[in-house]
Amino acid sequence: MSKNQFPFADDSIFFNVFSYLGLPLSRDFSSDQVDAVVMGIPYDLGTSGRAGARNGPNGIRQASANLRWESQRWPWDFALSERLNIIDYGDVPFGYGDSEDMLKAVEEQAAQISGAGKTLVSFGGDHFVTLPLLRGHARTHGKMALIHFDAHTDTYDDVEQYSHGCMFKRAPKEGLIDPAHSVQVGIRTAFDRAGHEYQVIDAQQANEQSVAATVAAIRGRVGDHPAYLSFDIDCLDPAFAPGTGTPVVGGMSTSKILGILRGIADLNIVGFDVVEVSPAYDHAQVTALAGATLALEFLYMRASRR
Ligand code: MN
Ligand code: MN
Repeated sequence: MSKNQFPFADDSIFFNVFSYLGLPLSRDFSSDQVDAVVMGIPYDLGTSGRAGARNGPNGIRQASANLRWESQRWPWDFALSERLNIIDYGDVPFGYGDSEDMLKAVEEQAAQISGAGKTLVSFGGDHFVTLPLLRGHARTHGKMALIHFDAHTDTYDDVEQYSHGCMFKRAPKEGLIDPAHSVQVGIRTAFDRAGHEYQVIDAQQANEQSVAATVAAIRGRVGDHPAYLSFDIDCLDPAFAPGTGTPVVGGMSTSKILGILRGIADLNIVGFDVVEVSPAYDHAQVTALAGATLALEFLYMRASRR
C-alpha cells in the first residue's frame, strides 16, 4: 500500500497515531474481508473511585503505536496480518451522560458485530461496559463461560444501578454467563464467599503457583464452552498498571498474565475486553501500553486458532 493512501501504512511509533495499531478506521464490518473489530467505549459514569476511564480507548490507541513495528509479535510464529483482517470501529456513539443509552448502544453494536461472525475486542471505559457487551455477545453465542481478571469480583448487589461493581452478579441472573464454568483470577478484595458461584484464583494463589497451574485450572473450569474474557487492568499490580480508578496493591505482573493467556490461546474465547485504563493517573503510558498489549495478545490468540 502506498504511504500516501489512507489508512497510512507506515509502522512508525509516532506518525499518524489515529487508530489501534494504525488499523483502518471503519464502521463497515459487514465485509467478508473483516475478521475482527476493535471498538472503544468511553464511558466512566459507573466508576466508584477515581473517574477518567472514558479516556481509556484513546490512551490504548496512542500506546498501541509502540506495538506497530513488530509485524510478527514475539514469540508467535506467524504475522497477525496473515491471518486476521482487523478494523478499528472507533468509539461507540452514545449520549455521554446517558447510561441507558450507552447500555442500548453497546449491546446493539456487540450483537451486530458478533452476529456477523466477527471477533469483537472492546476498550473501556469502566468495567460497567462489560454488562452490555455480555448482553450483545449472548444474543449471538448464548450463555457463555466467563474468564475474568480483576482485583475485584464485581459481584456486589448493594451498589448503584450503573456501578462498575455489579456486572457479574447481574450477568448470571440474566442468563448471559454460567458461573459453574467461569473463573475469576487475581482477586484481592473482600467479597461475600457464601454462595459465590465463581471459581476464584486469588492474587496470592496466582502469584505463588505456576503459570501452568493457573492455566490448568482455567482450562478445567471453562472446557470447550464459548467463553468471554474480561480483563480489568487493575488485576495487574499498580506497579504494572498505576493508571486506573481503583488500584489495589499485591497484584499480578504483566509477564505472568501473558503466560496465562498464551496457555489458554486455544480455548473458544468469543469476545474480549480490557477496561479501567485511566490515562490521567498513568505514568509514561505504563497502563495504556499494558492494555494495548493484552488486546494484541488476544488477537494473536484468536489468530492462532485459524
Ligand atoms: Mn477492579
Ligand atoms: Mn472490575
